[in-house]
Amino acid sequence: MKILVINSGSSSIKYQMYEMPAEKVLAAGIIERIGEKQGHTRHSNVQGNTYSEDKPVAHHQEGFEIIARLLMDKQYGSIQQPEEVFAVSHRVVHGGELFRKTTLIDEAVKQKIKELFPLAPLHNPPNLTGIEVAQKVFFKAKQVAVFDTAFHQSMPEKAYRYAIPHSFYQEHGIRAYGMHGTSHRYVTNQAANYLQKPLEQTSLITLHLGNGCSMAAIRGGKCIDTTMGLSPLAGLMMGSRSGDIDPTVPYFMGTKLGMSFEEIDQLLNKKSGLTGLTGSNDLRDILKMSEGGDTQAQLALDMYTYRIKKYIGAYYAALGRVDALVFTAGVGENSSYVRWHACEGLENMGIRLDREKNECRASKIIELHSGQSPVKVLAIPTNEELEIARQSFELLK
Ligand code: ADP
Repeated sequence: MKILVINSGSSSIKYQMYEMPAEKVLAAGIIERIGEKQGHTRHSNVQGNTYSEDKPVAHHQEGFEIIARLLMDKQYGSIQQPEEVFAVSHRVVHGGELFRKTTLIDEAVKQKIKELFPLAPLHNPPNLTGIEVAQKVFFKAKQVAVFDTAFHQSMPEKAYRYAIPHSFYQEHGIRAYGMHGTSHRYVTNQAANYLQKPLEQTSLITLHLGNGCSMAAIRGGKCIDTTMGLSPLAGLMMGSRSGDIDPTVPYFMGTKLGMSFEEIDQLLNKKSGLTGLTGSNDLRDILKMSEGGDTQAQLALDMYTYRIKKYIGAYYAALGRVDALVFTAGVGENSSYVRWHACEGLENMGIRLDREKNECRASKIIELHSGQSPVKVLAIPTNEELEIARQSFELLK
């Protein structure tokens, strides 16, 4: 069964085509800067033939037509006709409380994704565009939605509610939903397998540290708490997002500094976090700056790792018992610095890293803890596309 996994953003479409259940990647690529003067397309197939082109791509429809053409190309492709794609699986960021699991898309589902636009104004609209265009281009294929929020729907009410009057929740759905669910779910399953423990008996803290960062407390394979909230802005400090902040700060910015809602939103989402403190959102740059004696860069690193450490403590308390910490995504898989400083001083909680093992980068699952560490510490490469393909295959088989 060929499943085409799609991540359709406002200006890009990422895709991977899988042969399932073999989990073989037949083709993969990305179309970037859709709608801009200079677009970029990259594609490769299982034979290793790579195609790359700098050419404007006017809109998502054109993007999907390019993808279909490349997938069927004699040299670069892996299929002969669009009908060979059995399903197109879409990453949809916000499923609200309406979607707790992977769902076959019909008109009613599309309507509900639309109703959720106010909760994810930047993400759900391009996700829906991707679905509508894919329906035209791959018209025979089943269309499936995999929601980023679904994995976190198991949180108890005490964890997801905000302490504001009930009506804001009941009438407007204002509560914590959490994001990166597909990644947290993927590494949870990987960790349980690796630890050779039944999922139901496994207690984990997962740390997805990429450009966006979130952590989750997971008991028995189910999320009981996570750091992101109504939107991805909450929780950890990130590449360009502030993470947790006193809610009075935006009020102050508006009333005292005359900033508009849009300016505040842009500031907290795009110009804060590592970017706001150092000018770069890339941790590698900041590590270099700090090695060169830049005290602002050092402060940013201290803040970044301190906040992770605080959430490790919080989630340890929420879980009561932890089998493993699981680091994943760009920073989590690669940065020995962040892992070391986030775990430093937690020895009395049973978290002991091995300095040498921690120096490794995770191209596969690696152990980072010392021999005597009661809590295991793992780095696991995430694979959201594969998780989406797996979820879809489970639904369709
Ligand atoms: P996204 O959220 O965009 O998917 P990724 O998971 O790819 O992000 O993570 C991107 C981040 O990973 C980069 O901004 C960079 O800071 C960090 N990163 C990647 N490689 C390394 C490395 N070797 N050391 C430290 N940080 C790294």
